[in-house]
Amino acid sequence: SAALKKRKIAVLGSRSVGKSSLVKQFIENHFVDSYYPTIESTFAKSVVYKGVEYDCHIIDTAGQDEYSPINSQYAIGIHGYVLVYSITSRNSFNMIQIVHDKIIDFCGVSKIPCVIVGSKCDLSMSRQVDSTDGERLAKENDCAWIETSAKTNHNVGKVFELCLQEIEKLTAPNQTE
Ligand code: GDP
Repeated sequence: SAALKKRKIAVLGSRSVGKSSLVKQFIENHFVDSYYPTIESTFAKSVVYKGVEYDCHIIDTAGQDEYSPINSQYAIGIHGYVLVYSITSRNSFNMIQIVHDKIIDFCGVSKIPCVIVGSKCDLSMSRQVDSTDGERLAKENDCAWIETSAKTNHNVGKVFELCLQEIEKLTAPNQTE
């Protein structure tokens, strides 16, 4: 049988957009309302996608702003990216292009496997970012896009499936690293 494919996925975006909540819901299947700022943690989960088992390592980051440098731990050995904004924060949406471009520059590549995530979609009363804006940004950068809610567990698994899909698009078949 094929070796387990290891996939390292980094979750980036502004502070308090719901990165930790998304990862927590995906890994532990629960949501907490309280806010504990993350320094950085890595979680592992095995995911079966299209009949293939992936050993996923998910790196939850503290959050970036326009002044944060993209250091090597978000570039070296990372297979795919989950870039998160909150649909309730225009600023967090504007950060996505900035973070995306910093990764591209740092890695010296023209494209990265990436899914752009509009989080907190249960808070539609406070929406500041239209779905069409999210879709357009993803299209312009050749990324996947989805809206999620960690609170209601809407599309949470789908985020990581899309990320694996984007990684596979850029990875040679039967590669294990
Ligand atoms: P991080 O700094 O990006 O990791 O953000 P957190 O995951 O810590 O979330 C920041 C705050 O937003 C917390 O109070 C969460 O409970 C809340 N939050 C996160 N995801 C959602 C969501 O999908 N819906 C709602 N309503 N609140 C959320």
